[in-house]
Amino acid sequence: MEDPHPSPPSPPKLRARAVTRTFGRAAGAVHALGPVDLDIAPGEFTCVVGPSGCGKSTLLRIGAGLLRPSSGELSIRTSARHPVAMIFQDYGIYDWKTVQANVRFGLDIQKVPRREANARATRWLTRMGLADFADAYPATLSGGMRQRVAIARALAVEPEILLMDEPFAALDAQLRTILQDELLALTQTTETTTLFITHSLEEAIVLGDRVLVMSAGPGRFIAEQRPPFDRPRTGAVRSAPEFTALKSELWELLRGEVGVRAAA
Ligand code: ADP
Ligand code: MG
Repeated sequence: MEDPHPSPPSPPKLRARAVTRTFGRAAGAVHALGPVDLDIAPGEFTCVVGPSGCGKSTLLRIGAGLLRPSSGELSIRTSARHPVAMIFQDYGIYDWKTVQANVRFGLDIQKVPRREANARATRWLTRMGLADFADAYPATLSGGMRQRVAIARALAVEPEILLMDEPFAALDAQLRTILQDELLALTQTTETTTLFITHSLEEAIVLGDRVLVMSAGPGRFIAEQRPPFDRPRTGAVRSAPEFTALKSELWELLRGEVGVRAAA
């Protein structure tokens, strides 16, 4: 029987309408992005793949409020208590702060009392396997450890929306796999709404509720696929036959776009 009082679908956490971005003016202008439309539902994990230079970071920076669209609108719905957190391609951690202070950074901004902030920072450092490095400075850590500091810092604020820009790109394959699995577990238990940029199809298929493919710049969405794996899922999906099939299908699409770029 039909539910006489169906609950309305929750409005999206992130909504973009006809968003474009151009850099510079007149003859020298670079049309970097769009137009793109995007809705991300609460708790949804959306991955974006696309060729280098197609505007992925530009889209994410607009989402984070660091950049304005040239036209169109992007809005984000969160409460003040649970903000948006962003993890950059180059980690974006502060070399002059200790690991502990880096992880506490967002909590300090939110004016979380110091004792609680330290306890939360310690909890996330422990979860990321960095408890012994709380007093170290980032310069003394490996790339993988720096990236885990960045992840701990972003997650410590318990963000409602997490924006990640190729966060694992600089890591070796093993660490990358470990952190993908860790991120899966985390986002599934916390139901964090996530927009995740990557140039790795495997990564997008393992992590995403959906995978959006972008065209060569100016990037637009040209395809959308939903990896056919239930939640909660684990990294074991990497060996499913559907995984390989979907990867081939997406690669066909992406290869065309990478080719456009290489020939340009
Ligand atoms: P992606 O992250 O997909 O590799 P980006 O969003 O970084 O691509 O860049 C898209 C395009 O916009 C590129 O051609 C890049 O050179 C250009 N671009 C990005 N940021 C700026 C900027 N601040 N000033 C001028 N051009 C920029
Ligand atoms: Mg980028």
